[in-house]
Amino acid sequence: MSSSIKHLVVIIDLNPFYWSDKISSTTTTLNFKQYLKIIIQFCNAYIAFDINHRLTIIGCSNNETCFLYPDPTNESLIIPTVTKTNLFEQLFVIDRVVENNLKEFIENLSPQHISSGSMITMALTQALCYINRLIRDTLPGEKNSFRILIIQTTTDTSKQYMNFMNAVFTSEKINVPIDGCILNNDSSLLQQACDLTSGIYLRVPDPNGLLQYLLWLYLTDKEVRKMLALPTKVAVDYRPACFCHHKLIDTGYVCSVCLSIYCDNTSTCSTCRSAFDINNQSISTSNGITDSSRRQIR
Ligand SMILES: [Zn+2]
Ligand SMILES: [Zn+2]
Repeated sequence: MSSSIKHLVVIIDLNPFYWSDKISSTTTTLNFKQYLKIIIQFCNAYIAFDINHRLTIIGCSNNETCFLYPDPTNESLIIPTVTKTNLFEQLFVIDRVVENNLKEFIENLSPQHISSGSMITMALTQALCYINRLIRDTLPGEKNSFRILIIQTTTDTSKQYMNFMNAVFTSEKINVPIDGCILNNDSSLLQQACDLTSGIYLRVPDPNGLLQYLLWLYLTDKEVRKMLALPTKVAVDYRPACFCHHKLIDTGYVCSVCLSIYCDNTSTCSTCRSAFDINNQSISTSNGITDSSRRQIR
């Protein structure tokens, strides 16, 4: 009988700009070292929770991403000293590999590239490609499940809106739930991702309790969650971002050819180059988006 393997891909936001702000702030809150320690503790708990659990960790900063675990090259160099530490061998290997790769990743971060947002979308697409490969390699009769957990610290960058939403729709299509945990202000994009893929979204009220929240909500999969008391679902902010300024908008114009969204009346669609007659009346739709189809002249 084949057992079903449960894969979890954890995407960790390692943006240095978020943590540099924390150093200057006077409030006693979680620091970067504690944050990393908590994530490693959660990953260890996930592996120890079930023999069929498998883990992948992807780190992302403001301008790059990195596979922190698994790393076959690094793993082969580590000799577990199980007898000395009395630690489960796999946990020892995970700790060391993640520690080494994290150190390398953080040391190589280029500070001159200033960008406040993190490459969450890039990490998400890498996670989906990796999962797709695992799905392809699944043997007949195996019923493996996959899940993505995004631990985000930075606020949304609406520049990533289109790519992020495309990745979310892909995730929904291949039936991979996205869970989201954010330490900053509420993230509209992450909320939409979790809602569309039936994952759990949580804005951590107190970062000092991050480990407790992670263990409570994200250790278990969909089946076990039915038995848990989960946080009350809040109304999801489904506002899209305009393609011209990458701002979240309540009312906008939609290109009838390629469905690009614009915050203002435009004569040409910048995506598909369709030209519009700006003098014709536009039609408002029930969701607040204005349909510009009547204004398209060719
Ligand atoms: Zn705009
Ligand atoms: Zn268009």
